[in-house]
Amino acid sequence: MALHAAERPTRILVDLDRIAGNLGAIRAHAGVPVMAIVKANAYGHGLVPVALHLQAQGVEHLGVAFPEEGIALRRAGITVPILVLGGIYGPQVGQYLAHELQITVSSVEKLRQVEAAAAALGRRATVHLKVDTGMERIGVHAWSAGPLIEGAVASPWITLAGIYSHLACADDPASPMTALQLERFEAACAHFGRIGAPVPPRHIANSAGILNFPETRLDLVRPGILLYGVLPGSECRPSVPVRPAMSLVSRVVYFKVVRAGHTVGYGGTWAPEVDTRVVTVPIGYGDGYPRALSSRGKVLIRGREYPIVGRVCMDQFMVDIGRDSAWNEDEVVLIGRQGDAVLRAEDVAAAAGMIPYEVLVGLNDRIPREYRALPDAE
Ligand SMILES: *Cc1c(COP(=O)(O)O)cnc(C)c1O
Repeated sequence: MALHAAERPTRILVDLDRIAGNLGAIRAHAGVPVMAIVKANAYGHGLVPVALHLQAQGVEHLGVAFPEEGIALRRAGITVPILVLGGIYGPQVGQYLAHELQITVSSVEKLRQVEAAAAALGRRATVHLKVDTGMERIGVHAWSAGPLIEGAVASPWITLAGIYSHLACADDPASPMTALQLERFEAACAHFGRIGAPVPPRHIANSAGILNFPETRLDLVRPGILLYGVLPGSECRPSVPVRPAMSLVSRVVYFKVVRAGHTVGYGGTWAPEVDTRVVTVPIGYGDGYPRALSSRGKVLIRGREYPIVGRVCMDQFMVDIGRDSAWNEDEVVLIGRQGDAVLRAEDVAAAAGMIPYEVLVGLNDRIPREYRALPDAE
């Protein structure tokens, strides 16, 4: 967006070397190639800069949700294989082929659609077959995958680059669902052997699978949130040493004393019991900072944690600093580290009643991204 006046005090700091470090840690842990998932603006970290950095690290594969994201990557000079994970929308198939995007094919009907587009353009389509093992989202049911596998193997217009499924409950180490899904997936893949065809790379593990279920690694893993140093759920084992790559910062732009009983913000939902010092921070739900943090979120100022008071507005919110002092232009950390204090995306999500994915992905383009090293813990 053109709005990025260089001076906006609110910004997202992204440490690309931490993402590279996380990629290395995941690779070392999983021991198989990685398809780095960069959909939804690389989980808020910036699609193109993250993908270019991952490419420079020799990432084997990238994954996006929609062809538009893949096309943006191709236009930015990304040459590594890109799989579009979402279900195909017929009229877009030609676009996949024109931009050398790998296609998710989840039924015989979709296979025929892809073949027709490939024949019309005179170029082969590179395809991953999608098997549903328990999400009931897209994918041929594992028990009826035979005809799809046979059709893809036999087609002169299809290069088969993979077969995959998606885990529904891997964030819960105690759930029996993951074992069931893996069993169904392996049963579907066994069909290649029955028809004497080579098995393409099989993949099923998302971040939670990588962390909690080592047996799901198969031939390729598909980490998203873990690449960015954030755990997918509170039950997940921190079995891979990753570090958060994002910090969200702003600055104090106003300071005042609010008298006891005087309400703060829309709806007058909060008032101090005694006179207190309140500062204003210039970021709000118009930036994707969750309004659900109204009177529930926390921020860091001068290395200490303070509560958000009253409702988060579209462009600003207020913070009660009690009897402490803060000055205009003091740094405010909304996600990240300040001195010894830390606010993780997971903490922000918990306060908002959200999952960390929503918090990261929600931060929109009104906030400039700045790529630089984040300070280490002292
Ligand atoms: C988003 C997505 C992933 C990555 O999920 P994380 O939980 O962020 O690791 C992997 N596979 C598919 C099919 C996805 O849609």
